[in-house]
Amino acid sequence: MLHIDGLSTGYSARPVLSDVSIHIEAGQFVAIVGPNGAGKTTLFKTISGILRPTAGSISFEGRDLLAIAPARRPHLGIAHVPEGRQVFPSLTVMENLEMGAMTDAGQRDWKSNIERIFEWLPVLAERRAQFAGTLSGGQQQMLAIGRGLASSPKLLMLDEPSMGLAPTTADLIFDRLIEIRRQTRLTILLVEQRVAEALETADHGYVLEAGRIALEGDKQTLRADDRVRRAYLGM
Ligand code: ATP
Repeated sequence: MLHIDGLSTGYSARPVLSDVSIHIEAGQFVAIVGPNGAGKTTLFKTISGILRPTAGSISFEGRDLLAIAPARRPHLGIAHVPEGRQVFPSLTVMENLEMGAMTDAGQRDWKSNIERIFEWLPVLAERRAQFAGTLSGGQQQMLAIGRGLASSPKLLMLDEPSMGLAPTTADLIFDRLIEIRRQTRLTILLVEQRVAEALETADHGYVLEAGRIALEGDKQTLRADDRVRRAYLGM
């Protein structure tokens, strides 16, 4: 579904990603883990089109993504749930969800999507009339995920959904993702610093270190890897 090959990018003269290749098949749940500053957010920004690569290619369902304007990419089925949630604070929960449904498929599927989103994330139904800025961090994260789902994505990209959340709240988010994935077989690309949780939630992982892919494998392989155990799992 998503094929990234030899991708390099950065900010002005400053390189961040070097020769990154990532392949995701439809229905896979893939985690990209790594330390602060490794380039995880930069990778997502490049897929969304906020940043242009200096080298490499990205294809989505066989189409050259780099030839498609960033504003059109959500209409292809790519939803980016950004780092730090970035909900619209002065809009209600419902209005935030409506903003997510601005894609062609999101408009078409609104009625069935909103029912399922409320089923998966019931706190959004309870608080549908509340201003998003008054929600807790965990609730805002649920809203950011709901907003992504409202676009009817084929690929849901989540940038550190657990950031700044208490461990129990983060676990709740991971649990919801597992359930949504179980019910829909949606393709999910998750970027996380909480490596243990990410490698439990996803089925395949990449370790990104200093802008390069250091390791790749299914979750069992990565969790058994000595380097991963020492550097990220505290063993
Ligand atoms: P974090 O978890 O801290 O967000 P990350 O793996 O997502 O880490 P990025 O945010 O992609 O990392 O940042 C990679 C590198 O690029 C870092 O060294 C960061 O300082 C730098 N960087 C990020 N955004 C910019 C920017 N707008 N201009 C210049 N440098 C940037």
